[in-house]
Amino acid sequence: MTNKTNGGGRTLRPATQLVHGGTMRSPFGETSEALFLTQGFVYAGAEAAEARFNGEDPGFVYSRYANPTVQMFEDRMKALEGAEAARATASGMAAVNLALMASVRAGDHVVAAKALFGSCRYICETLLPRFGVETTLVDGTDLDQWQRAVRPNTKALFLESPTNPTLEVIDIAAVAEIAHSVGARLIVDNVFATPLYQAPLKLGADVVIYSATKHIDGQGRCLGGIVLSDQEWITEEVMPFVKHTGPHMSPFNAWVLLKGLETLPLRVDRQSSTAARIADFLSAQGKVARLIYPGRADHPQAAVAKRQMTGGSTMLAFEIAGGKEAAFRFTNALDVIRISNNLGDAKSLITHPATTTHQSIGEAARAELGISDGILRLSVGLEDPEDLLEDIAEALNAV
Ligand SMILES: *Cc1c(COP(=O)(O)O)cnc(C)c1O
Repeated sequence: MTNKTNGGGRTLRPATQLVHGGTMRSPFGETSEALFLTQGFVYAGAEAAEARFNGEDPGFVYSRYANPTVQMFEDRMKALEGAEAARATASGMAAVNLALMASVRAGDHVVAAKALFGSCRYICETLLPRFGVETTLVDGTDLDQWQRAVRPNTKALFLESPTNPTLEVIDIAAVAEIAHSVGARLIVDNVFATPLYQAPLKLGADVVIYSATKHIDGQGRCLGGIVLSDQEWITEEVMPFVKHTGPHMSPFNAWVLLKGLETLPLRVDRQSSTAARIADFLSAQGKVARLIYPGRADHPQAAVAKRQMTGGSTMLAFEIAGGKEAAFRFTNALDVIRISNNLGDAKSLITHPATTTHQSIGEAARAELGISDGILRLSVGLEDPEDLLEDIAEALNAV
């Protein structure tokens, strides 16, 4: 493996890192990243095998432990995030589970923001308690609640920002300080912000996780996830968990995601600028009772968003006056924008959280999170903005 791009000693900017970062070329000198679809590796002799296994030779042993294509994806993400170490996983949920399981033992305590992706709530509320780990859920935007919830045995604080689906913005630096006051680690799920618009490690977080399924792939093809943090924790806690339980990423998916990273800035910038235009349009419509977009001055946490995010979002949430019936009429009248629960895709996708992604948490939990029956979540894609605006305008006429 040769021919790594290292910037000639200069620090390369994100868009350049996303094209070249982590590339390892085989002796063939291929332009595009090679896809190493292999389970294992062969050794030149018995001594070489011994050296691989006792760690004297750092080469590859088995693709459950590490794989060259997956390592290229991990190294590219590390360069982008400014993280010392990373482990890629089969999905975003595998990354969330890995980060939490690697942080706790029976008898420990976790504090998480309530506005979590449904499966993250399941891990916190149902799975961790089965193994003797207590979880307290708080309103993530209320720093007093975080402060009151931490205890001497709290080992991890967990949050998403902006949140799904109501795009609340949580003050990462302030929550990191509370975590560190009791010696806990702050884990941030950075899916909605993307690594381009928010750098949780620089804000004081200890661990960043992604569902690479979303903007990193961005074209609806494969699932993936990643956990990024410091070298010591990844080596001591994360690596053994991956090695012995097998939630690792497939080399094929790593290859797809490497290609996704090359175009990430182009896609996210375009999707966000279109989302900002749609947000401005919707804010002026009488049939829209509420509009939430992190890039706007009327966002409930606009000051925090401005401090910790460098861009708006590809996502917006809005409430159609008239509840579920009006929201359904609107979504059914859309033609270009498709109904789906996914996000971050090249195709614009709309979700009615109350009846889909957030159906199972129940009416009381939805009310607490501000997910009314009229709320819709829109993930803005790469279509021509004019076509999306016309699609929305026509659908509003149908309400
Ligand atoms: C989608 C998503 C996940 C889960 O990722 P998968 O790749 O679907 O497993 C976790 N957190 C957030 C914020 C997400 O949007």
